[in-house]
Amino acid sequence: MSWVQGARVIVIGAGISGLSTSIRLARCGAVVRLVDMRGDPSAIAGNHPSFNLTLGVRGMRVLEALGIGGAVRRSAVFALERCLHRTDGTCEHERYGRADEGIYSIRRSALLGELLSLAQQESNIELQFGARATSASADGLVGLSCADGSNETAEFDAVIGADGVNSSVRGFMSQLAPSVLSSARPTGIYYSEIYVGLGAECAGPLVHIWPRSPSFLISFPNRSGPTTVLVFIDRKGAQRPSKADVLRVARAAGVGSGLVEADLGQIAQLRTVQSSSWSSGRLVVIGDAAHAIVPFLGQGANAALEDSEVLLKAIKEAADWTSAFERFELVRRTEMDALGRMADRHFDELSGGLVDPDRRQRTRLRAKLSVDNPGSFRSTYNAVAFTHSSYLAAEQAYQEEEAQIDRLLTQGRNR
Ligand SMILES: Cc1cc2nc3c(=O)[nH]c(=O)nc-3n(C[C@H](O)[C@H](O)[C@H](O)COP(=O)(O)OP(=O)(O)OC[C@H]3O[C@@H](n4cnc5c(N)ncnc54)[C@H](O)[C@@H]3O)c2cc1C
Repeated sequence: MSWVQGARVIVIGAGISGLSTSIRLARCGAVVRLVDMRGDPSAIAGNHPSFNLTLGVRGMRVLEALGIGGAVRRSAVFALERCLHRTDGTCEHERYGRADEGIYSIRRSALLGELLSLAQQESNIELQFGARATSASADGLVGLSCADGSNETAEFDAVIGADGVNSSVRGFMSQLAPSVLSSARPTGIYYSEIYVGLGAECAGPLVHIWPRSPSFLISFPNRSGPTTVLVFIDRKGAQRPSKADVLRVARAAGVGSGLVEADLGQIAQLRTVQSSSWSSGRLVVIGDAAHAIVPFLGQGANAALEDSEVLLKAIKEAADWTSAFERFELVRRTEMDALGRMADRHFDELSGGLVDPDRRQRTRLRAKLSVDNPGSFRSTYNAVAFTHSSYLAAEQAYQEEEAQIDRLLTQGRNR
C-alpha cells in the first residue's frame, strides 16, 4: 500500500464518516485535508441541543480500533433494557438482548467531540471549517468556497465525499456522468426533538418507547442534562405536520407535561439515499452521502463508522484509488441495501408491533427458541445491534426464522 504514503486526499464533511475515515487515512501515511462547511469546530461538537445516537457492537468496535472506545463509553449511558409505554398507561420492561447485551446512548455532539479531538492530534490532517465544496471532478479537482469570501480550486489524488444525506459530492458525480442516478428520497416520515426532560419516572439507564401508530416517541438516557426525546410521525405522503400536530402526539402519549411549541426542535423529514454508483474515478461517496437510511434500527452512524473500516481495507487490497473505490462499493452496497430494507420495516415495530398482542406472542416464542438454539432466533434489532454478522445474513436468517415461527404457530393452533 506504499502508493497511499504521501498521497493528497481531500475529505469533504467532518461528520462521523469523514472524521473516522480521515484519521484512518492519516495513520496510513496519506496527507489529508478535511473540510466542513460549518463555521467552526464548536458548531460541530458544541453544546447546542443535539439528539442522541445509539451505538451497538459494530460502531463500538471501530471506535475501539481508533483508540476512543473507553472515552466514548465514559460519555455514554449503557442501556440493557427498554420500557414500552402502552396506551392504557401501563409499562413493560424488555431486555434488548441476551445477558449483558445493551446499547450505548451518547449525545451526537459528544461523539463528534471525541472524533474531532483525535483528528486534531494527527499531524497529517489539516482541518478547515467554513469551507464548502462547490465542485469536484473524477480526476481530483475540487472547488471550495470559504467563509472569508475566497474561492479556491485545488487538485488531489483522491476525493472522499462524506457530506451527508444532501451530499453535494453525490450531485457532482451525477453531473459528471448523467448515467449515475441518485436521489435523496423523502419518506413521508417526520421527526422533531423535544428539549425538555422527562419526569423522575423515566430516570435511569433505560430507553423509553411510546408506540402510537402511525407515530411513536422514543427517549434516550443521558449522563447529564435532560433526557433526549424524539417524536416520529408517519404522514404517509400527506402534509408536513405542524408544531401543534407534534405537541398533540406528545401530549396524548403523556410525555413532557406542560410542553409548549418553544420546547420543540425543527420538524424535519427523513430522507433515504439511492445512488446507482458510489464512485467515479478518484472520487467516492461514503456514509449517509452514499446510503442514508431511516434511523429505526439506530444503525446509520454505526454503518458510517464501519464504512471507514471497509474503505481502508479496500484501499489496502487495491493498487490504485479507482479500483479501491470500486471494491468498496462492491463489498458494501448489498450490505447497506439489506440494512435499508430492515430499517424501513422496523418502523411498524416501533410504532405498534412492540405492543401488539399477536406480535408479542411471536416475540415470546422467538425468545424461547433463542434459548433452545443459541446463536440463532435473534430479532432483527438484536442481530444488527449485537452481532458482527453481515447485514444481509441477518436479514436472511430473520426471514427464515419468521417462516419457522409461522409453522410452529400454525401447528399450535391446529392441535
Ligand atoms: C433522527 C435521527 C436519529 C438517528 N439515530 C441514530 C442512532 O441512534 N444510531 C445511529 O447509528 N445512527 C442514527 N442516525 C443516523 C446518523 O445520524 C447518520 O447515519 C450519521 O450522522 C451519518 O454520518 P455522516 O458522517 O455520513 O454524515 P453527517 O453526519 O450528515 O455529516 C456530514 C457533514 O458534511 C458537511 N457538509 C455537507 N455538505 C458539505 C459541503 N458541500 N462541503 C463541506 N462540508 C459539507 C456537514 O456540515 C456535516 O458536518 C440517526 C439519524 C436521524 C436523522
